[in-house]
Amino acid sequence: MFKDLFRKQKRYATIPSEQAKKEIPEGIMKKCPNCGHIMIAKELEKNLKVCGNCDHHYSLSAPERIRMIVDEGNFFEYDTDLISDDPLSFPNYSKKLEADREKTRLNEAVVTGEGTIGGYPAVVGVMDSRFRMGSMGSVVGEKIARAADRAATKGYPFILFSASGGARMQEGVLSLMQMAKTSAALERMHRARVLFVSILTNPTTGGVSASFSSLGDINLAEPRALIGFAGRRVIEQTVRQKLPEDFQTSEFLLKHGQLDQVVHRAELRETLIRILDFHSGRDHDGDH
Ligand SMILES: [Zn+2]
Repeated sequence: MFKDLFRKQKRYATIPSEQAKKEIPEGIMKKCPNCGHIMIAKELEKNLKVCGNCDHHYSLSAPERIRMIVDEGNFFEYDTDLISDDPLSFPNYSKKLEADREKTRLNEAVVTGEGTIGGYPAVVGVMDSRFRMGSMGSVVGEKIARAADRAATKGYPFILFSASGGARMQEGVLSLMQMAKTSAALERMHRARVLFVSILTNPTTGGVSASFSSLGDINLAEPRALIGFAGRRVIEQTVRQKLPEDFQTSEFLLKHGQLDQVVHRAELRETLIRILDFHSGRDHDGDH
């Protein structure tokens, strides 16, 4: 009992004071949300936004991801004019959309377009979790479906990065419909024999994990990303079983055959170039 008292005291003593927290200037230093390691923001950028201590992969915005993956100056964006409506007159939805448009300078939670990766042309889609938590409403679904149709027409591989909390509740059943719409567009693309590579990043959950992001010919993920349909607690209550500690992580899904590879951010571009090269049918002199 006495031992417990001492342990408690020690724990409280290690919590940094409010004053200490304030001494880290906002914007110059970044504190890792996983291990607490502090890095200079510029160093963190150079390290592709991966923690130098624990390898935690920070979330990337769509523009950051495009800069990291697509050949420099080689991206043409599609459908910049598509803006979400408020079909259910959901309280405050229009205002929140406007605030997110302002904050992110994006028109919606996904950016689609075409560019080259290592010289190989590709249609590229990137979700941005800063916009309504990357949730999928009608416009997100429409942009992804259109991108898949364009990939099919042009015969370019489709590379899609997911980061999403799932379907967007403010658009109700219209959001859920996007699961079917995007899946159908991908099926048309598949019949046109066009390659689809899905890269799941932290977090990919709900209706997005249950539709297009799991339908890749090749499904990749970043390390330790949260990937799943329903939340852990909901599943535990439903199945009345304790779930394993690493449940719903990239590594767990790889072990159970849901993913093809877990790829560190530093190797992602090279990995994609290898995949594109392999599927390009380009002849390598004397290779085989
Ligand atoms: Zn860390």
